[in-house]
Amino acid sequence: MKLRWLGTAGFEVEANDQVFLIDPYLSRNPQARPAQNLQPEDISKAGQIFITHGHFDHLCDVPNIMARSTASVYCSEIAASTLVRAGVNSNRINVIKTDGYLADFGGYRAQAFFSRHIKFDLPLIAKRLLRAGTQYRRLSKIIKAYPKGQVLSWRFTINEYTMHHFGSGGSTNKELERLSAFPLDLLLVPLQGHTHICDIAFQYVRVLQPRLVIPIHQDDFYPPVSKTVDIQPFVKQVREHCPGTEVRIMAVNETITL
Ligand SMILES: [Zn+2]
Repeated sequence: MKLRWLGTAGFEVEANDQVFLIDPYLSRNPQARPAQNLQPEDISKAGQIFITHGHFDHLCDVPNIMARSTASVYCSEIAASTLVRAGVNSNRINVIKTDGYLADFGGYRAQAFFSRHIKFDLPLIAKRLLRAGTQYRRLSKIIKAYPKGQVLSWRFTINEYTMHHFGSGGSTNKELERLSAFPLDLLLVPLQGHTHICDIAFQYVRVLQPRLVIPIHQDDFYPPVSKTVDIQPFVKQVREHCPGTEVRIMAVNETITL
């Protein structure tokens, strides 16, 4: 399979001649680093789009991508309402209401698990918004227009290769312990939204014990809402304490073959 990181929590995945997207977010503001020059039409080959939660940096480009493709979307109820408000036909939306929902697409399987958003991101964002000064009103409007709803994590199985994607790092230990019952090849773990995010992300690796981990969401996608996260303390902890896990750092729009 081929995996292209779109920045933030976004991925384009090619699996046995099928293409799907996870949290595809391309919009940036001019201050974003790194920049993202891809347009919705550049990722229009996908048949399915999987969404972890309704926040703007996971959902806001989905209507544009769907308008240029035949993709159907899989998301929880609140994210579905946001998409309908943005003009997406509800026939193309699959609302996930069950923890453990499983779908087989032929070339791959996708399974959704109820998850949680990182807890302290709102005060952190509030702090960043205060720093935003005159931009405050505009930014808080964007944030309010995209409520998160039920957070999902997604497990994909492609030819016996398993990959688990989290859009936000709020999982409880109980949730991770339950997921750890299945051996994991690749973990995509988000590092954004909390002062101690490196320690939090390390817990994901410690419990899930993947063979490979790729840190995601550490980019400065929409300053001042976001900030580049120094992921080195995370990388160091994994290398020191999890000898069975390789860490790989991707560049935005880089494709790797697994
Ligand atoms: Zn979020």
